[in-house]
Amino acid sequence: MTPIEEGGTPPDHAIVILGIPSDENASFAKGAALAPDRIREALHSEASNLWSETGHEISEANGIRDAGNLQGAEGKDGPEKITHTIQTLLDHNNRVIVLGGDHAITFPIIRGYARRFAPLTLLHLDAHPDLYDSYGENRFSHACPMARIMEAGLVTRLVQVGIRTFNAHQREQADRFGVETLEMRHLNKIPAFSFKGPVYLSLDMDVLDPAFAPGVSHPEPGGMSPRDVITLIQSLDAPLAGADIVEYNPKRDPAGLSARVAAKLLKEIAGKMLDNK
Ligand code: MN
Ligand code: MN
Repeated sequence: MTPIEEGGTPPDHAIVILGIPSDENASFAKGAALAPDRIREALHSEASNLWSETGHEISEANGIRDAGNLQGAEGKDGPEKITHTIQTLLDHNNRVIVLGGDHAITFPIIRGYARRFAPLTLLHLDAHPDLYDSYGENRFSHACPMARIMEAGLVTRLVQVGIRTFNAHQREQADRFGVETLEMRHLNKIPAFSFKGPVYLSLDMDVLDPAFAPGVSHPEPGGMSPRDVITLIQSLDAPLAGADIVEYNPKRDPAGLSARVAAKLLKEIAGKMLDNK
């Protein structure tokens, strides 16, 4: 498929996998820009198959299209390019699953979604609330996307799950923006999430316990298991309009095991989208 930014025609009514290889806004360790291709390798590895547990094959025949990696996602024009590409894909009635990249990309992605989807619920799985007003003198750091999204009023609800790194500033921000937070310390059992309107799922790989997925830049002990996240995805009662899987860092994953976890979650997310075609 010719890349969309090079004039390629976007698919219609498909589930589009789009890599956004950008880690310029990562504050601590680079490497997430290498993630999209490593996740694809794990997805297509013959060690497994392409079926979701829920009975959907993640294949072109079922309307899954891989749009490759967005070129020029970094730099001054990067965010606008991300927003425009997302808008183009949505204008063609696609649902998009983005493979990041650091978490800063979620702001320009949601900017694209907001134009088409209102109301929109953002379901955010992360060890971190990503609500800093500014981090390292960068208001577009991967520690800030949820603050930018809420300031701009791009979503109706922000529901965060798995958080375990609140500080005073970010707690204040959560209160100020009316964020609904399900902290890890209160997450004894995965509740059945039910939302009325469309949902966008933003999945930061560090929501997982580092025992299961150490290949992230900010491993935070005491997190969710892959099975917890799979259960959450499979039991989600809402139309899933889009998703991203961000912050996987291949440089911290020499054996490729965390890539397998990311690929597994990708299959279940695509399977959930195929459930409600
Ligand atoms: Mn994050
Ligand atoms: Mn995080």
